[in-house]
Amino acid sequence: MTTQTTTAPERKDLETTKKMRAVMGGYFQELGKGREQGKKTAWCTSVGPAELLRALGFNVYFPENHGAMLGASRMAGDLIPLANARGFSPEICSYLTSDIGSYLKGQSPLQKMGLSGPPKPDVLLFNTNQCRDVKDWFQFYAREWNVPCLGVHSPRALGTLDEPIIEDVARQIEALVPPLEKIAGQKLDPAKLREIITLSRKCTDLWKAVLETCANVPAPMTFFDGTIQMGPAVVLRGTQVALDYYEALLAELRQRAAEAVPAVPGERFRIYWEGMPVWGKLRDLSTQFAELQTCVVASTYCNSWIFDDLDPADPFRSMARAYCNIFICRSEDEKEAYIERMVAKFKINGILYHDAKTCPNNSNNRYQMPERLDAKLRIPHLVINGDLNDLRLYSEEQARTNIQAFVEGLAQK
Ligand code: SF4
Repeated sequence: MTTQTTTAPERKDLETTKKMRAVMGGYFQELGKGREQGKKTAWCTSVGPAELLRALGFNVYFPENHGAMLGASRMAGDLIPLANARGFSPEICSYLTSDIGSYLKGQSPLQKMGLSGPPKPDVLLFNTNQCRDVKDWFQFYAREWNVPCLGVHSPRALGTLDEPIIEDVARQIEALVPPLEKIAGQKLDPAKLREIITLSRKCTDLWKAVLETCANVPAPMTFFDGTIQMGPAVVLRGTQVALDYYEALLAELRQRAAEAVPAVPGERFRIYWEGMPVWGKLRDLSTQFAELQTCVVASTYCNSWIFDDLDPADPFRSMARAYCNIFICRSEDEKEAYIERMVAKFKINGILYHDAKTCPNNSNNRYQMPERLDAKLRIPHLVINGDLNDLRLYSEEQARTNIQAFVEGLAQK
């Protein structure tokens, strides 16, 4: 039996997505007005303690989100070489090199939203739970603008999250309070921190429920939709706006699931995406999978903004646990056990690993994981070589051919 590539069957767009522009646009407008409203701005890594910053009244800006926008808009290709010319290797994080290139050239997708570019920070706050690149990235701007750069140094490749680890990271987060209070010009109100953590936890629970609707057969949403839908979970967690958006999205997806409205009409196979998205090729990949009647139903990437451990009753320790518990921060054994659970829950037929050249931290095919999981799960895998933002590292023809052959293999199986 062979699998034929046909024209992509017609898909019905999600209604809730129409609200996305207003939600994300509103977020960026707020950032843009920060200074005139007398609000301070903090830059934060995507899995950093954003709740603490919000509780201290900062506008919170996430440069990785900007990096993804540079990739999705394909502006990254012109900008990365500018950062390379300033001594940032083409081999390191292409979010970093795209973003610094954007700064050097004075070009940003935010200009289409009426901002002159990313808002200047009053403080930069990183967490090395995901990689060292974020620290180097933030320190560049700290030197450039002479602003303070604070951070949490989290251990990585964690097995059991035992008490000494959580205690150490919790103390590090707590130690940020005095310098942040000084920059914010206000004292931390513990009740406000609990309130923000409560909102963040609700956001995470809703986002998790949204992703879990894809356990239905057929799935009502794809991974490619998820990379767009996750915007509010990344930049607006800890706010009511994010909750309102995800409540509406969840209701629509549950309705779709109940009526068996598929994200990919004629869904035949279900794939797990491991690793970073190829931001500049989301649409092409989404179309190819739809043509192959194959749905990418789940991913490690979209799940990275589920923080089950957040607990307003124990703010610092629960933030420490939540931000150490993310997939990228865990040991190979923990990661494999996680993927095994995902494969069972989402009824996965095959796993696609994206080996992103400039992000070894989020490429999990390099130390034999696919082979070990093949033996345990008895489902096939495919590795595609590419990158999150640097499309010079992505061979589209090769990826297309390999994906087609992979799905044909599933059909034969
Ligand atoms: S995890 Fe990867 S993509 Fe994200 S900031 Fe670090 S190196 Fe860049």
